[in-house]
Formats: sequence, structure tokens, C-alpha cells
Amino acid sequence: MDRPTQSPNQAGAPAPHPMDARPLPSALAHTDEIVARLNGRPRAILLDYDGTLTPIAAKPELAILDAGVRDLLRRLETVATVGIITGRDMATIRNLIGVDGLAVASDHGFDVLLPDGHRTTVPGAEVYGAVIDALGSAAETALEGLEGAMVEVKPYSVAIHFRQTPDAQVAAVEAAVGDVIRDFPQFRAAPGKKVLELRPDMDWHKGSALLAIIEALGVDPDRTLFIGDDVTDEDAFRALGDRGTTILVAEEPRQTAARYRLRNTGEVARLLAQIYDRLT
Ligand SMILES: [Mg+2]
Repeated sequence: MDRPTQSPNQAGAPAPHPMDARPLPSALAHTDEIVARLNGRPRAILLDYDGTLTPIAAKPELAILDAGVRDLLRRLETVATVGIITGRDMATIRNLIGVDGLAVASDHGFDVLLPDGHRTTVPGAEVYGAVIDALGSAAETALEGLEGAMVEVKPYSVAIHFRQTPDAQVAAVEAAVGDVIRDFPQFRAAPGKKVLELRPDMDWHKGSALLAIIEALGVDPDRTLFIGDDVTDEDAFRALGDRGTTILVAEEPRQTAARYRLRNTGEVARLLAQIYDRLT
């Protein structure tokens, strides 16, 4: 029998594999570089919420922001525009963060609030908002009897959370959601961490929202930092490209468009504290 050619070698170091994600440098080992890129005004520090500022919780409502991190965001606001780019809806994320004066792109960027209070939604999104309750009801009906699945209806998207669904039932949840989407072809299902997001099938995402925010604020992409952990954050990494500073939060390396990596929310808080100290 042929032996697999890409198995880990005996010394313990895995042999390189063409499908392996490239190892990303730790952002904490490159604070000088990151701060140097943020040097000058105006500048923006933009952050995802779940999995970036708070650990992913068993239920979304349990993802409470640590008081120390909230205080850190308030301090960062004195040296940069601080923004949150999230799949959560506007009211929920503003409650969870509890800091005034932030830029917030909620609902995957379909709803944007600037620090001056100016709020915009994506042109054309209202046709999706008009059927969102019907989509939510259809999802509720389709998921009836499937343990642990929870439907969250937002202004422009519906999230199906299944973190508490037994593994054996996850395929049934996905199948049920697929059936729902067939009746609402103007939406598409985008996978996240133990969540399926039913989003308008239009070319708008977290990356579009990020660019809209920095353009509105007159911030150069070179002086923009974005940190996120999920598949949807890749759109924001790609939008900034090589010009911005992009950081993936992930315990294990994975394919990403980000430039640096942090392992967890604790490392995110450490980096943000270091950035604040260095910018003051
Ligand atoms: Mg996240």
C-alpha cells in the first residue's frame, strides 16, 4: 500500500501541506509595526463583537462585554474613531457595548450609524426588510421540533442559531433552512460559527460597510485597523487589503485574508490596551 506523502514526520513537525493555511504572525509580536501604521489622524479602530471582543456564548444574549474592555473602548475613543461591525441588530449591539459615540455597522453592515448620530441604510435594502417578518415566521415553522435551534429576526436578516442543537440534528437544521430559502430566493444562507445567517442576496457585506464608514469619516485605509474572527469578517479583511491592518482572531490557523492573528478575545484586549498606551 502507498503511504500518505503528507503525513506528519516523526520529529513532530508537520510536513508542509499545500492546503495548510499560511502561518500568520501574532499581532502582539508586531505592535510597533501596527502602531506605526496607525500613526497620524484621523485613524479608525474597527472591531467585530462576538468572538472578537467577547467569547462566543452558548446563547447570544449571554455574550456580555467585560467592564474592563468597555472602559478600554472609551479610552480608545480619545485617540481614534472606534467602530463596531457586526451581524447583530443595532439596538442589541448598542446595548451590549454601552459606549456612546461609536461608529456602528449592524446587521452585517446593512444599518450604519456614524459617531455624529447620522444613520443610513443600504439603498435597496428596504425591500428585504419588508419581508423579513415573513422569513422569520417561515424559519420558526420549519425549525419546529428541532432541539436548540433559535430564530433571531433582525431588520434585514434572520439568524438561525444552533449552538445548543445536538450534533446529530445539525444536518436537519441546515436542510430545514435550505427549504425556507427556496421560498425566499432573494435571501441567501451564509454560514457562521454555529449560526446560519439569512442575508439579502445583494453585493453588500461587512467590507462594504467598513469602507462606507471610513470614507464618511475621511479616514485613509492605511490608518484603519480591523479585527474579526468569523467567515463574514473575511469580507472586511479583503476590503482593506494590504493597505489596512487586519487581524484574525482564531485559536488555530486558517485560510484568511488577514495580515496578523490573535488567538482569543484576551489577546485582543491586550493588543488594544497596548495600542492605546502607545498612541497616548
Ligand atoms: Mg465574530
